[in-house]
This record gives sequence, structure tokens and C-alpha cells, in this order.
Amino acid sequence: MLSVKNISMHFGGLVALNNVNMTVKEGEIRGLIGPNGSGKTTLINVITGFYAPTKGTVEMGENVISGRTPNQVAKAGLCRTFQNINLFSEMTALENVVTAACIHQKINLSSAIFQTKALKRQESHVYDRARELLKFVGLDGKENTMATNLPYGQQRLLEIARALATEPKLLLLDEPVAGMNEQESAEAAELVQKLRENGKTILLIEHHMRFVMSLCDSLTVLNSGAVIAEGVPEEIQNNEDVINIYLGK
Ligand code: ADP
Repeated sequence: MLSVKNISMHFGGLVALNNVNMTVKEGEIRGLIGPNGSGKTTLINVITGFYAPTKGTVEMGENVISGRTPNQVAKAGLCRTFQNINLFSEMTALENVVTAACIHQKINLSSAIFQTKALKRQESHVYDRARELLKFVGLDGKENTMATNLPYGQQRLLEIARALATEPKLLLLDEPVAGMNEQESAEAAELVQKLRENGKTILLIEHHMRFVMSLCDSLTVLNSGAVIAEGVPEEIQNNEDVINIYLGK
């Protein structure tokens, strides 16, 4: 699904990524972990088109996506949630999801008066799907609540619903449980588990070790801009280099 091939990223003299390789297979949850400053955010920014890499390529299926704009990468089927909430705060939960779907499908909601029957059918389908997605992420009954009035954990779930509305081939979750309390994290874990059961392919960047280890099929560990380990959670948990630089901290 996703291949990161020999990616290097330099900022002036600073080598933020040094020859990084990583693959995400269809239907798997791949975790990306590493201590602060190890290059995770830089790698995500390269994958999602925010940075053009100094060297190397990123491929989605057969397509090279590195060097493309974030919009083009999104169109290729990669959707990301952000570490910091990035919702339309003055819209309701439902409007947030509908808007994301409409932007994705290029439907113009403001042209209500002139809509043809076909467009109206399309619009009602978008609303039905948005309600379904809100239910799926556990926000049933919150359709008409302003995003800004939802508790923090629910805003993050709404972000995931919004990402799903664009029907991504690959969903990139950037620290989905950061700032959540234990109960909220447990609910988020349940949701990620459900996404996996639905066959979604996910790249998960997260500091919460229990969350990562319980949900990921495989992990890539970065340190100082280089991959120092790769494998299933059990291998990573028992890897001495990882324990030394990260888990043993
Ligand atoms: P992480 O997300 O794992 O904490 P980052 O990707 O943010 O790591 O940072 C990796 C390294 O790249 C750090 O040394 C950081 O200071 C540096 N870095 C990240 N972005 C920039 C930038 N835009 N300009 C210069 N240096 C950067």
C-alpha cells in the first residue's frame, strides 16, 4: 500500500531523516514510534506532501507520491488526522463530516436552490453516510452539537470520522490518544480495532506505548532520523536497542 524508499530529509546542515525505509501493507496497522526529535513528524510531513524529501521516494501502490502537494497526496487516497485538533469548530459534528465528504466529492452544498434531483439524491446520501460515520466512531446523538462544544476526546473521534468521510485507502493517525484520559483512550482503542476489522490500512504515530503495542500489527522505530528496529510488537518490546533508547527511558 505504502512504500517509503531511502528517504532522507535535510534542513540546512541538520539530517532529520537518514535513508529511511518503511512499508505499510494493505489491511495492517503499522505503528511509527521513536523518542522526541527522532524524525516521526518529518517523515509524516514527507509522506503527506508537506515536505519534498532531499532524497528517496514515497509510493502509494504504483504511484509515486513524494514531491506532490498535500492535496494531490490526499487525492491519491491518503488522509491524515492532526496532533492538534483541526476541526471546523463553529460547525456541528454532522456538518464537519458532511463538509469533508463534499470537499472530497466536489459537491457544492451552497447551490441548494439550483440543485437537480440527482444532486439532491447525492446530498442526502452524503448526510446518511455522515450519520453512519458518526455512529461508527461513537458519536451517535452528537450530530447537532457544535464541534467546539464536544469534550476533547470526542473532538478527536470526530476528526477520525471526518477523515473516514474522504474514504481513504490509507489513514494516518497522528497521536490519536494524545491528551486523552484513560477512558477516552480505551474508546479510541476500540475504534481503531473496529477500523482494523473493517479492513482499513492505518499508519499510527503514537507515544502511548500500551495503545501502540496492543493495536499495531507491526512497528517501525526511529531514532536520530534512522530506522533502528522493525517488527511485530513482541519483537520490538524485546529489542535491546529499543529498550535502551526508548522504552527504558
Ligand atoms: P519527532 O516528531 O520524532 O519528535 P521531528 O521530525 O519533529 O521529530 O524532528 C526531527 C529533527 O528534525 C529534530 O532535530 C528537529 O529539530 C528537526 N526539524 C524538524 N523540522 C524542522 C524544520 N522545519 N527545520 C529545521 N529542523 C527541523
